[in-house]
Amino acid sequence: MTLKKLVVGNWKMNGHKSDLPELRAISDVASQQNNADVAICVPATLIEPAVNAVSSMAIGAQDCHANENGAHTGCLSAAMIAECDAQYIIVGHSERREDQGESNVDVKAKAIAAMGANMHAILCVGESEAQRDSGNAVTIVVEQLLESLPDIRNDFDGTNLSIAYEPIWAIGTGRIPSLDDVAEMHLAIRHALVEYYGDAGHNIHILYGGSMNGSNAHDLMKIANVDGGLVGGASLSAEKFAPVIAAA
Ligand code: PEP
Repeated sequence: MTLKKLVVGNWKMNGHKSDLPELRAISDVASQQNNADVAICVPATLIEPAVNAVSSMAIGAQDCHANENGAHTGCLSAAMIAECDAQYIIVGHSERREDQGESNVDVKAKAIAAMGANMHAILCVGESEAQRDSGNAVTIVVEQLLESLPDIRNDFDGTNLSIAYEPIWAIGTGRIPSLDDVAEMHLAIRHALVEYYGDAGHNIHILYGGSMNGSNAHDLMKIANVDGGLVGGASLSAEKFAPVIAAA
């Protein structure tokens, strides 16, 4: 089954109101592409201005709290993000797993919260370089995935959840796994999703992330079960992001 490609930019802690014209330029590129859905996950401060600035792509957030409200200084609930008309929330990015000590249990709770607020959760998994070198990356990532997946199976059709496979050692380094390694990992993730969710597992986008750019996106997107990309550095300008969107 071929899913419509989904290409999501992750601006991380980059972007000010002065960058809204760049977002508009990316939206213009997206408007010329019918073969892919495009979104940019911006810093929280830009969600509402970005939603108001663009018309041809979705806007997302980079994290949410698992609770609906309460004494959690500095955090945002999924409902608050939904109120700004964002459509996506990244959960479990390796930078948050590392910097904020987020566990698989935390990530699962955040994914459930995001989906419960009618948002599309993009759940990130990926191995470290040492884990890749150990030869056990597939087993490790599938285990991480199974511990992080939202356990909501009733009426779940798979359309509001994506998985981003992001080898940690490939993020921001300019290095990517071999295409065979990407294919092996995405197939293993697909099998795990179908085993966990049944047929709905076929509808879940599996994005590749980690130094995807205009030079490698075409080869990566051609791989079976690579249903799009999660893109950091190369999503920061329309010039760099346009060839990635075109490759989709
Ligand atoms: C990311 O952080 O999600 C990412 C994929 O970054 P980059 O494309 O810069 O490697």
